[in-house]
Amino acid sequence: MQTVNDGFAAAAGKSSFIRKMFEKGLELKAQFGEDAVCDFSLGNPDVPPPLAARPALEKIAREAVEPLGLGYCPNAGIPYVREAIASFLSKQQGMELEGQDVIMTVGAAGALVCIFRAILEPGDEVLVPSPYFVEYGNYCGHFGGTLRPVESREDFSLDMAAMKAAIGPKTRAIIINSPNNPTGAIYGEAELDELCRLVEEENAKREKPIFLLSDEPYRAFAFDGASVPAILPKTKFALVVGSFSKTLSMAGERLGYIGVNPALSEADGGVLVSTLILVNRTLGFVNAPVVGQKLAAEICHETVDLSIYARRRQLMAEVLTGAGIDFIMPKGAFYFFPKAPGGDDGKFVDALLKERILAVPGSGFGRAGYFRLSSSVDEKIIARSAEGFKRAVQNV
Ligand code: PLP
Repeated sequence: MQTVNDGFAAAAGKSSFIRKMFEKGLELKAQFGEDAVCDFSLGNPDVPPPLAARPALEKIAREAVEPLGLGYCPNAGIPYVREAIASFLSKQQGMELEGQDVIMTVGAAGALVCIFRAILEPGDEVLVPSPYFVEYGNYCGHFGGTLRPVESREDFSLDMAAMKAAIGPKTRAIIINSPNNPTGAIYGEAELDELCRLVEEENAKREKPIFLLSDEPYRAFAFDGASVPAILPKTKFALVVGSFSKTLSMAGERLGYIGVNPALSEADGGVLVSTLILVNRTLGFVNAPVVGQKLAAEICHETVDLSIYARRRQLMAEVLTGAGIDFIMPKGAFYFFPKAPGGDDGKFVDALLKERILAVPGSGFGRAGYFRLSSSVDEKIIARSAEGFKRAVQNV
């Protein structure tokens, strides 16, 4: 009996490596106890939200009992929240956005799904620098789109020649993620300028433009003085996507946004924005969560305590160095993407598992021979993993 469609039937059993490791972790914790397992499999923000969240939530709770306090809201988001996020994005992107240029969504994930619904025809292609966040494939696959990974350079910077060569008649979008999950790379001004020039040149020849989707849920996580360049002023074909899942530690509240360059709305008469608002509704989201919207409007300019993440990053680097594991220090986000000792990522992740250390094979992100660690984990656990890493390297 086949209860699901052909695509999902083919994918059954091949669920994401990340989820598999997460489930394995739960099993091990149940068997050996929480303290016996070092779980670096999932990027689940575990630090508290900023202190300002509490008075903001108290205010929202007081308003919640008013008529429509928790009711349906306009599909694009509560008007004053869109204005607040527009002002947040204007500062971040160095470009004036108004409320009408912002759509509140169900996380960055919901934002991307809405964009793909609005722009893709079956058979269209979405290019992504590889390694990449594997769920992008599902997001565009829902609408008949195909994700085409384009290998990044050895240092995880963009390979512009490869990107140019990958563009074809079916290309409809390029998705970049900076700071990057899984590599921690932050793309610099010069490479983004080059990418935007490429998009502009291509679009000059096309009726249907290629969109540059900049997925930025880790924007605040930039270390050692690194900064994340703004994408919107570089080309009107860029859409910025983000969320407060990580920056405010409110991943469960599912609050994200799309920011559109006003010049694009002027060029297409606002059709893309009104389509995004429509699909946000008809995909079943209806509107972004109301409590999350109100909370984000109050505290979007804050972040979680980033010094906690900076210390964890430093400690994780020390643990890996101590074990003789080769890695590039991540500039941002909270992941490490080291080379798997012995070269076989599956084998090395198994060796780590024997030490009750959970990691995700690089194959799950489109690059075999590497593995991913999330450093969104208490310092005590990172420190405790040091001997296990050393043994796994010896035993692989
Ligand atoms: N994009 C990337 C690169 C991610 O790592 C994640 C979540 O881990 C998302 C998008 C989705 O985030 P959310 O929907 O919680 O904003």
